[in-house]
Amino acid sequence: MSDMTTDLTPPFTSRLQSSSSLRQEQHLTMLESLPDATVIMDSHGKIVFVNKQTEILFGYPRDEMLGELVEMLLPHRSRDSHVGQRNRFMVTPRVRPMGRGLDLYGMRKDGSEFPVEIQLGPMQTADGLLVLSSLRDISDRKAAEAKIQRLNDELARSNVELDQFAAIAAHDLQEPLRVISSYTTLLQMRLDDKLDDKCREFMGTVIKGTKRMSDLIRAILDYSKVGHHGIKSEVVDSAAVARTAVENLESQIASVNGSVVIGGLPAIVADPVLIVQLLQNLVNNGIKFRSKDRAPAITIAARETEHEWVFSVADNGIGIRAEDTARIFALFQRVHAAAEYPGAGIGLATCTRIAERHGGRLWVESTVDVGTTFFFSFPKP
Ligand code: ADP
Repeated sequence: MSDMTTDLTPPFTSRLQSSSSLRQEQHLTMLESLPDATVIMDSHGKIVFVNKQTEILFGYPRDEMLGELVEMLLPHRSRDSHVGQRNRFMVTPRVRPMGRGLDLYGMRKDGSEFPVEIQLGPMQTADGLLVLSSLRDISDRKAAEAKIQRLNDELARSNVELDQFAAIAAHDLQEPLRVISSYTTLLQMRLDDKLDDKCREFMGTVIKGTKRMSDLIRAILDYSKVGHHGIKSEVVDSAAVARTAVENLESQIASVNGSVVIGGLPAIVADPVLIVQLLQNLVNNGIKFRSKDRAPAITIAARETEHEWVFSVADNGIGIRAEDTARIFALFQRVHAAAEYPGAGIGLATCTRIAERHGGRLWVESTVDVGTTFFFSFPKP
């Protein structure tokens, strides 16, 4: 198509102007061999030329089209409005490229319709203003687009169903787990003096196991909620939200002599509960994955780019090896020993979801034994 667009620029039109008649052999041969249906109409909308491809596409023999109004190639419902559009085009003629997103249809001789893309180009000739239209049948592309849309809709629906299933399952698992946990604790208290060391150790392992399972269920619930709940869109003072996240972790931070500095943070449009959750997860990881050699020091900051706010949560902890940084964002992926650093491997997957549901992203930069910085972006409103 770009070739033809070039042909419609001044050198081409001037060639036409200098030629005495449009019917000049070389021009017709060129138009005849174009891969798109090509129709030339005069300033009254009468068809003065069609190529072979037009006959094939519309099913009319050439002489049934010549001399007729171009609207014969359109569905009846759009003919009247097309006359108006065509007249307006004649007042300010200019090359109009094939416009995506316009829902245009052609109609064949047998009355069947098909989606088309149309490019228009004015040609000043010795015979007056003519308009060259190139028409392309885009049925295949439309069908492919509709199929992709249908598959995307199905995928989105099944993801929501999956999240709902996970949320219900996690919620329902909590209750029996609470029963196991509280009765085991009761048994331990009642039997304490009757148990030998081995049995006490077994009892302790059961209680630890239930605690771990309860943490895991809570994390799955948090993750699935971010997927299927509608998110709020409010103006959020992110400094206040960061303070809430830090207050929620106060005892953990104090127990390891940690410190969190909150820099100047902007107001953003977001869901405040989810942003607390996001920051809390990242600060919590900064505390959890601390170095044995120094007290954890975490800084929450933000910088502005043209289209986004980029937040950062930087720690001075153990760091992550470059080859591991990609996989830590996936569900249940952990790269440090569970015995030393307990966790479910769901926190960062949840953070990614939160950032993405706000139209942003989450990424990491890290140096082993120096520290890790997580970044997340939010598009500016
Ligand atoms: P969890 O913390 O429950 O293990 P996450 O999804 O939050 O799960 O983190 C996944 C993994 O990424 C962690 O197990 C850890 O190996 C690594 N990681 C996350 N945050 C940090 C951090 N601040 N410093 C070093 N490693 C980290």
